[in-house]
Amino acid sequence: MNFFKKQMRFIAPAVVSFSFFFASCEKENENENAVTEADAQPQTQSKFSNDINAKLTQHLFDPEETELVTLKLPDGTTQKSYVYNDKSVDQSTIENTKIATDKDIGKAWHLFTRVAPGNKTYNVAFVDFNQQFQRQAAGDMVWSFNNRLRASVKLRHQFIRPNQMNSTRADIFVFFVRGSDLPSSKAIAIAEFPPHPATRSGRTIMLNVDKGNNFNTRNKLATLLKHEVLHNFGIEHSDWRTKRSCGQMRNTPNQGGLVHIPGTDNSGNLLNSIMTTCGVFAGDYTNDDIWGMRNLFGFR
Ligand SMILES: [Zn+2]
Repeated sequence: MNFFKKQMRFIAPAVVSFSFFFASCEKENENENAVTEADAQPQTQSKFSNDINAKLTQHLFDPEETELVTLKLPDGTTQKSYVYNDKSVDQSTIENTKIATDKDIGKAWHLFTRVAPGNKTYNVAFVDFNQQFQRQAAGDMVWSFNNRLRASVKLRHQFIRPNQMNSTRADIFVFFVRGSDLPSSKAIAIAEFPPHPATRSGRTIMLNVDKGNNFNTRNKLATLLKHEVLHNFGIEHSDWRTKRSCGQMRNTPNQGGLVHIPGTDNSGNLLNSIMTTCGVFAGDYTNDDIWGMRNLFGFR
């Protein structure tokens, strides 16, 4: 199942190195003029203060590889977010983070400093999912989320056109963007985490159409969606400590932003999960993903 692993050797150690889920390297030469409703417009800023760096680190964001960008959403609104790997967190959530004083909180691989409310059905709007395999993949993701995880959070989905964004009430929008409109065109997908306080789930999953060969089949797209949507509910990468799925062996410390979910692997080095940082080693939710979500939100 590790059909993307071969790409990992191409990861560049650049400042903006998106060595994340399904990452591969291409020059950022996409058409800068292609502005559509679904486009996002990054405004890269210089690097951050020590205070922001500490707060980013607590969210497992590497400050050197993080960008603060203004993302234009398909409904015309904008949102300023910090983006790292395939994760985004809105600006105020990062900046309002209280630096943890307890550095020994420990070994964990699921993150839930910010968890969306449970006992709720979340509406997911898939924007411009017009091809049959795309709709099947969306259905696969929702089915697995509801019937394999069986947590108290459920999903309900619909398919809409971009011009229906304004009139659609949805908790999560899944939509396509151009690589040139992302902080790095290497991004394949970026999912937003819940804010703090966690009054909602993460609202967006952006799919980079210029990396579309990474999700051009029902199975690949379903797997990608299953991964990204757990970020929307606060779940971190299963190998967050080592990034072993990216061919690395780091020893990333937990700066206090991670809390271990009981019943899940606590090594930060787990590959048997859909939540590996780079590539897919599990085609569907594994026991760790299932127990993680059930422990966070309750079993149903
Ligand atoms: Zn991810």
